[in-house]
Order: sequence, then C-alpha cells, then structure tokens
Amino acid sequence: MDILAKLGILANAAKYDVSCASSGVSRKNQGGIGNSKSFGICHTWTSDGRCISLLKILLSNDCIYDCRYCVNRRSNDIPRASFTPRELAELTIQFYRRNYIEGLFLSTAVERSPDYTMEKMITVLRLLREDYEFNGYIHAKVIPGADPLLVYSAGLLADRMSVNIEQPTEESLRLLAPQKSLPKMFASMQQLKEEIQAHKEARRRFRHAPRFVPAGQSTQMIIGATPDSDLTILRTTQTLYQKFGLKRVYYSAYVPVNQDSHLPALTASPPLLREHRLYQSDWLMRFYHFKAEELVDPQHPNLETDIDPKMAWALRHPEFFPVEVNRASYEELLRVPGIGPKSARRIISQRRVAAVSVDQLKKLGVVFKRAQYFVTCKGVCPAKKTLDPAAIRRIVAPESPITQLSLF
Ligand code: SF4
Repeated sequence: MDILAKLGILANAAKYDVSCASSGVSRKNQGGIGNSKSFGICHTWTSDGRCISLLKILLSNDCIYDCRYCVNRRSNDIPRASFTPRELAELTIQFYRRNYIEGLFLSTAVERSPDYTMEKMITVLRLLREDYEFNGYIHAKVIPGADPLLVYSAGLLADRMSVNIEQPTEESLRLLAPQKSLPKMFASMQQLKEEIQAHKEARRRFRHAPRFVPAGQSTQMIIGATPDSDLTILRTTQTLYQKFGLKRVYYSAYVPVNQDSHLPALTASPPLLREHRLYQSDWLMRFYHFKAEELVDPQHPNLETDIDPKMAWALRHPEFFPVEVNRASYEELLRVPGIGPKSARRIISQRRVAAVSVDQLKKLGVVFKRAQYFVTCKGVCPAKKTLDPAAIRRIVAPESPITQLSLF
C-alpha cells in the first residue's frame, strides 16, 4: 500500500478522537525546525465542528482489541493500514515544510501488544525530535498497559500525552471495551502525574533537567454510548482533575458506527447538545469553583438542555440571590449568571475606588441581560422588579425548544 492510501485510511480513522487542543506549550527552537513557543499546535475544524490539529493521524488502525464503539475494532471488516515510524516521521516533516501543519497529534490502535505499539510510537517521536530536530508540538497517546519505562521514554519526547478512559465507569468499560480496565488507565495517569511533578521540580533546581510532558495530560470520554448519567460523568471528571491533575477532559458525543445490541442504533444522532452542556459544566468546575454535585444531583442526574448549567443552578437556588455586587466576595460573584472571572475581578477592583452602579455593570463586562435578575447595586435591582425562578426561566429559555445540534 502506498503512503497516500495509508494516509487516507489512517487520517480518516483518527477523526473520532477529540482529545486535542492547543496547550500553549513553550518548546523552544534550539537550532532545528518548528517552534511551538507561542502558538502550540495549529488547529482546524472538521465539518462536524470538532477541533483538530492539521496532522491528526493514527500510526495504525490494525487493532487487536474489540471495543464495541470503535470503527477500528478487530471484528470490523475494514481496510487496515500501518505506517512504519520512518514513513510517519517523513510525512510529518514534509507536511511541516509545506506549511500544512505545525504539530502532530499521534494516536494509534493497539497493534500486536501495548508494548509493541508504544515502542513504535516512541520510534516516531525519536525520529522527529532527534533525526529531524523537529521542535513543533506533539501530542501522543499512552497505550494503557504499556510498560511504564516506555511511557516514560515517550513522555520525554512529547509535549502532551493522553490516556483515553472512554467510559466514566469500570462497569461501562467492561461492557463496551472488555480488554481495557480503568485501574490500568489510572496507573498510567498516576505515573504521568508523578513524572510531570518530579521533572518540574528538577527543572526548578537544574536548568538543563529534561522536560517531561510539559503541556500536561488529558483524556477523552465518549458520551451517550451507555446510559451513564451526567452526574456519573461529571463525578468521574472531577476525580480526574483532582487526583491526576489533568489539563483537560474532552467529551466526544458517540457517533454510531457499529450495529451492536449494547449501543444506540445506527440511526441515532450523536448527542451534541449534551456534549456542549458537559463542556460548559466542565468549565464551571475548572474556573468557577463549582462541584459536580452542585450542577447535577441524584434528583436531577442530567443537565438541562434548554438552559446552561450555571443558569440552571441559579434558578434552583433562589435563596442565594440577589447578590449585592458591592459587598459580595469573588466566589459569590462567580455564581451569578452573566458574571465571569474577568468581570468579577473588575467589579472588585472598581469598588475599591467607588461603589459599582447599575450603569457600570455592562462596562465592567457583565452580561447584563442574564445578571440583572440576580444582583443588586447599592440595593437597587437592575431588573426593576423581582421575579421568581419560573418567570426568569420563561424569559431566559429559548421560546422554541433547542433542537439537537447536527453533525451534517
Ligand atoms: S483499542 Fe479499542 S478504541 Fe482503540 S483502536 Fe482498538 S478497538 Fe478502537
């Protein structure tokens, strides 16, 4: 099979992995080619709206595993292809030289064994970093179950690494991907976390200590392939951030590719709106000090689709409002729909000079049409009248129900 045919198969097979994004890594150019100092990886958007790097590719789609949700699973009768490490490294460099890409997002199926596959990935990374002196951004997958020494070697060469947990619980994983297990994945995540910390510490003391996965680790979860609730998904996300210090958790709406009694029908739409609400909740947990259990709870285990999770929380907690912007703490301001970290900081610095008035809210970056029902400025409610949560919901929720976003 020639390189072009392999490229067609393996670039297409990589499109279901969404765990890629720029991470602002600062790998300096030390005389070779490429530079990820200020821009990180170059992005593009596929027709289905996902963010991808320009060379997002699998090393191989010839998998020994049989994950039910995956197009590359062993039992599927599809064209198979594998690059040699030299082929993939040369392809990356040729694309780089033509200015098509600035970095590489390298994933792979499990070929022969986790160790064999990981060794092949390391060879690609070595060729790029050492033979071609490529300093661009590289995101590489960790193959769970691979020898920790191999994971370590890859970590010295890649900017970001990710272990895709795919499902939020061990039970779901056992059902859909019986050859994988969460404890093995958590072991790889723990190793990455410890090595990242140790190398950061070493670099504080020794200027020339090597970098290890300087852009941190991430993961991906498939949404909607099992009946797991948003509460389960967000609890797992919270644990991943707290326990393993992940930079990002990516959510991938399940795209039906296989006929299987354990999976949604082939005609089912990918739950893109749900994916969107999960990203919003993830943002609230990382930057707004929300806990998973505040956004969803056993009584409401799934996120609402007609309003965003922050508005939903505010409407469920009328006892918290109104918030007086001239007295509230930073954390209290962050709970107000329409006030973000930037506008909360601006409010706090403005009120050191003079009390914030209703007219100033917009100038400080507050989204007035959302915040007006939840704040007071010097005791004055900007919305002129106090409304109950049901009335606010009628105003802020879209008139017609939000329809499922479409991939096509
Ligand atoms: S390990 Fe599972 S998810 Fe990954 S390529 Fe193989 S079958 Fe697909």
